[in-house]
Amino acid sequence: MNAYDSTRMADVLAPLGYAPAGAPEEADMVILNTCHIREKASEKLFSELGRLRATKRGREAAGGRMVLAVAGCVAQAEGAEITARAPWVDIVLGPQTYHRLPEMVARASRAAGAVIETDFPAEAKSDHLPEASAPPSVTAFLTVQEGCDKFCSFCVVPYTRGAEHSRPVAAVLAEARRLVAGGAREITLLGQNVNAYHGEGPDGRSRGLGRLLRDLAEIPGLLRLRYTTSHPRDVDEELVAAHRDLPQLMPFLHLPVQSGSDRVLAAMNRGHGVANSSAWWSGCGRRGRTSPFPPTSSWGIPARQWRNSPRPWPWCGRWDSPWPIASNTPSGLERRPPARHIRCRRRRRTRGWRSFRPCCGNSRTGSTVHGSA
Ligand code: SF4
Repeated sequence: MNAYDSTRMADVLAPLGYAPAGAPEEADMVILNTCHIREKASEKLFSELGRLRATKRGREAAGGRMVLAVAGCVAQAEGAEITARAPWVDIVLGPQTYHRLPEMVARASRAAGAVIETDFPAEAKSDHLPEASAPPSVTAFLTVQEGCDKFCSFCVVPYTRGAEHSRPVAAVLAEARRLVAGGAREITLLGQNVNAYHGEGPDGRSRGLGRLLRDLAEIPGLLRLRYTTSHPRDVDEELVAAHRDLPQLMPFLHLPVQSGSDRVLAAMNRGHGVANSSAWWSGCGRRGRTSPFPPTSSWGIPARQWRNSPRPWPWCGRWDSPWPIASNTPSGLERRPPARHIRCRRRRRTRGWRSFRPCCGNSRTGSTVHGSA
């Protein structure tokens, strides 16, 4: 999503004469487009801002100027801290306001201090963006949905991207046609919760992702379709049928099932259980097209008891790498377990569930293990 957002920011700034530069030292404006899903995101940002401070000072010493902007979810969540710790930053903008970049650049050239835009604006960003530029390759991203209303206990998205919003079907089809005309042959539809898509159709009624994929598959020259990332709760019959019927729709699906324990799923506030997601998986298998795919299973968030620690799903082919949870989420605020506890779980993940025997006790009430597998 951030890669797509960065290209759209370039589209917004192009009428002002900005074009992508090869390195920060050559640039009149540097935008750090940040992601807040990992815990260390903000520390990485501040370390990068420290390096850019020297670049900016060098430019000013030579009589020039460099505008420094921080965009994305870290900007949304920590705008005040950014301006306090890095007063050399000129613009702080959240992910829903980058259509206002030209106005912010103009204000930054007049204002002393940073220009901050981290409110969720009333207007939809996608209604105010210029046409997407031609894709640099045969594959292209296309955002169809943003934000999330689900509030999983470990996730920052609802706080940084805001409420769920789906683009109208006509706008998505128009952008897809432009991308194909520009050379794209594969389009990946993006959304924080992409299969919760419910865009307004030409008849004024809401359409789901399955129906949207059918509309997109009719565009001549568009050979492949993908989408990411999905939620088990929002997989419906229409989407499964689209996988069955559309040769353009690739038989891969990133589906974060998170855990094989109902109790952990409830603690995560996921809104789905093991039984209904397994039933969905069986249904997909019967339809015969969608497999294999790489499910994500985040374990131990928040695992209050060792015995209830999450178990892999029966059809999990592999485990993803562990990742720490952002600290300003309900799960992130819980007490961390000892490092040896986390190491033990990582070892268990590597060896496989069946061969695992607890190696650091079986009672960890109150602990939260951060990671995914
Ligand atoms: S459904 Fe996905 S995006 Fe929404 S809160 Fe849960 S993990 Fe985050």
